[in-house]
Amino acid sequence: MKALLAAVSLLALTACSAEETRDVAGDAKRIASETIIVDTHIDVPYRLGHAWEDVSGPTAKGEFDYPRAVAGGLNVAFMSIYTPSRYDGTEKAKTHAEEMIAIVEKIEADAPTKFRIARTVADAEKAFKDGVVALPLGMENGSPIMGDLTNLDYFFERGIRYITLAHAKSNDIADSSYDPNHQWNGLSDFGKQVVTRMNELGIIVDVSHISDDTFWQVMELTAVPPVATHSSARHFTPGFERNMSDEMIQALAKKGGVIMINYGSSFLTEAANKYGPTMDEAYAKHIADNGLEDTSELKDQFEKDYRVTNPYPYATLDDVLDHIDHVVKIAGIDYVGIGSDFDGVGDSLPEGLKDVSSYTTLVEGLLNRGYKEEDVKKILSGNFMRVWRTTEEYAAAH
Ligand SMILES: [Zn+2]
Repeated sequence: MKALLAAVSLLALTACSAEETRDVAGDAKRIASETIIVDTHIDVPYRLGHAWEDVSGPTAKGEFDYPRAVAGGLNVAFMSIYTPSRYDGTEKAKTHAEEMIAIVEKIEADAPTKFRIARTVADAEKAFKDGVVALPLGMENGSPIMGDLTNLDYFFERGIRYITLAHAKSNDIADSSYDPNHQWNGLSDFGKQVVTRMNELGIIVDVSHISDDTFWQVMELTAVPPVATHSSARHFTPGFERNMSDEMIQALAKKGGVIMINYGSSFLTEAANKYGPTMDEAYAKHIADNGLEDTSELKDQFEKDYRVTNPYPYATLDDVLDHIDHVVKIAGIDYVGIGSDFDGVGDSLPEGLKDVSSYTTLVEGLLNRGYKEEDVKKILSGNFMRVWRTTEEYAAAH
């Protein structure tokens, strides 16, 4: 009996010390390399449209290139086919989207052993097996559809697999969270047709950027689960409509959808969220007090100086983890993923999560917070892939 007790306590001791010496960083690296990692929002095309760089090798600027993607274990990087709201309602909307798609096609054509445009879940899985980074296309802002459903079919053919209905302004499809002009109080009649046709074609409805009214109408209308491709939890940024309220996250989860957490500091903490508006107020006061003319040069210089005297409150890895924890707590582990917004949120990324080489850091953080390996895998890709597959199945049957 005594010997048995001794053996049991020895076993307990061994288990305990094994726990203490667990190589979390090593586990994180292994999980990141074994698991498909999906990031649903990276703004590479827009970045390269401004200043071309060969992303198949190391790049001086930006947050995405092949060596860093490999280092971070990134496998499925949704390329944002982003159209600025200033082109809404003009011919330029469609031609600009075409230009963005052409950039991704060039990335693939220049380095086919490193990058491949993926159009299906099967494509993405095959690319992972082949050791090639998959680049599916997501359209950010539906204005390139130009009020004509045949353009929706056309962009599906070109490879678009999700559409963010609106961007900074209310467009002919839907109202935007950033635009006080809610001209439709949600979706327009055309927007309703767009959502239904997206379901039939197999294009995921992205509920990021849209107003709350639009979100609730999409939730009623869509036959397949939507995804917020790059939004965070409004719980941490009260009043910021671009993020999702608890009620919205829970409704999204109930439908089987997923919220992909945005890394921009202003999406993560109230301090960072308020930084821009506070600086704008200080600038307005500065030009009023000194009788100055408002020019972009003056504003740039003011911002530069302001940032020196009022350092930007960068969010941290812990803030990102807090958002994931929050979604898991209020909705469940099956409804959260990553939509970093790399190359899209300027100099506002959290310490330690500055580019696509950092997914291993996130995995390490999740393990340190006690997430089991199977749960980490759901966050890295399982949850999103479930929605993408459901979207494909619905389209095949309709
Ligand atoms: Zn965006």
